[in-house]
Amino acid sequence: MGVLWSCLSRLECARCGRELPADRPAGLCPDCHGPLLARYDLEAAGRVFRPSDVAGRPTSLWRYREVLPVQGPAGVVTLGEGWTPLVRLDRLRERWGLAELFVKDEARLPAGTVKARGAAVGVSRARELGLRRLVIGVAGNAGAAWAAYCARAGLALTVFMPADAPPGRAAEARLAGAKVILVDGSPDNAASQAQRAGAESESFDVSAFREPYQLEGVKTLGYELYEQLDWRPPDAIVCPVGNGAVIAGIWKALNEMETMGWIPGRKPRLIGVQAAGCAPVVRAFEEGADECRPWADGETVARELRVTDPPAGFLALQAIRETGGWAVAVTDSEVRDAMRLTASTEGLVLCPEGAAAAAALDRLAQAGVVLPGNRVVILNTGTGFVDPPGPTEALPVVRPVQIPPL
Ligand SMILES: *Cc1c(COP(=O)(O)O)cnc(C)c1O
Ligand SMILES: [Zn+2]
Repeated sequence: MGVLWSCLSRLECARCGRELPADRPAGLCPDCHGPLLARYDLEAAGRVFRPSDVAGRPTSLWRYREVLPVQGPAGVVTLGEGWTPLVRLDRLRERWGLAELFVKDEARLPAGTVKARGAAVGVSRARELGLRRLVIGVAGNAGAAWAAYCARAGLALTVFMPADAPPGRAAEARLAGAKVILVDGSPDNAASQAQRAGAESESFDVSAFREPYQLEGVKTLGYELYEQLDWRPPDAIVCPVGNGAVIAGIWKALNEMETMGWIPGRKPRLIGVQAAGCAPVVRAFEEGADECRPWADGETVARELRVTDPPAGFLALQAIRETGGWAVAVTDSEVRDAMRLTASTEGLVLCPEGAAAAAALDRLAQAGVVLPGNRVVILNTGTGFVDPPGPTEALPVVRPVQIPPL
């Protein structure tokens, strides 16, 4: 028997429920082209894997190895990802009368964004399954993260990225040895190009929701959050939504923890935040639809939210509805104001996408979705220094004054 490492049991299509074996590389569902999700023997996991066992483990996302797909320690490709701080915002919380307000600060991850979680687990599992060449279509941040982990794992990576992505992201991916191809249009177009390149070459497409394992890395956000809150559920978790992996990953974590008997059935409201310039999930939520219609010409300063046709839009909508949550869009000027407010009151520089989540609090309070006395977590999904849309006025240059000696 030995030590139980991973309880991975199979893959399951998120749309039609078809099951597939998890012991070989798999992309989309062969029947309906829906995304595949990793499933575990949670009954077995729940018998041997308790929150108290996790408490003494190393502070990385691998502490949840029983519910991760990698089969043993030799398969782990790591740059020290996970266990980001949950920072309390006591000055800002008073603005909405909240009992507690936290930011889960993903800026501290390798390559500076939440994408490190998906890349760490996705690259580890790809290598374990024998894949050698990967291709990915990204908005920007995922390119830097996957390039870093592929370099470490010795895998070849080609990245398709929009030509107007922050130039630092392409430079970082190149520095890590990835081949970067800039394309016109949205992140969705980059993902289409990656899919075509994958079909025409020996490379395996690892764009969001085209393979099942990166979501497993992302979901550790949900496990960590609960562990850092001493397993007391918050009232709401406010998530920026681009492809939908962050919100769908947290929802998957909540369901798994409930099945293992770790947390009560009452779940926090999952709140999806998008930019007014690209809000397909918010529009579908308001229309009562189960699926998103593609958004025409997405544009926003929160560039990771410029996904016009989110591959997991339907999962984001399920997560929001089944937790009694809400979907809301914020304007670019609200994003900039929230960045300034959080930096100046709490010393925390958010990325534009995290600032979108912070900006949503005003609207959520007005709508009564978040109430005085609530405990709320907002996600800062990355560093604010990649592409800061902050104040652009030049500072005046002042001639230094000679200070006479005393
Ligand atoms: C990817 C990303 C998001 C959105 O996450 P999805 O899983 O695509 O919904 C938000 N913020 C940052 C900084 C990101 O890199
Ligand atoms: Zn299917």
